[in-house]
Amino acid sequence: MYVSALFAFECLEGVVRTCPECSKKKLPLGALIVHLNDAHHWTRERIAAWVADPDVPHDESHAHH
Ligand SMILES: [Zn+2]
Repeated sequence: MYVSALFAFECLEGVVRTCPECSKKKLPLGALIVHLNDAHHWTRERIAAWVADPDVPHDESHAHH
């Protein structure tokens, strides 16, 4: 299961982030990676890009700022 490769990010385990899809769901980063793959079917590449640079707008972010 390729998701396990993402646990290379486990050094960020203390980080809690809000799920970019659920908006209100907050999870530790490691759990959120699994959640994004499992619940939202994000690809490893998309998750990795988001983990590396969460401020990069996806899809619909021309609205703010
Ligand atoms: Zn979610």
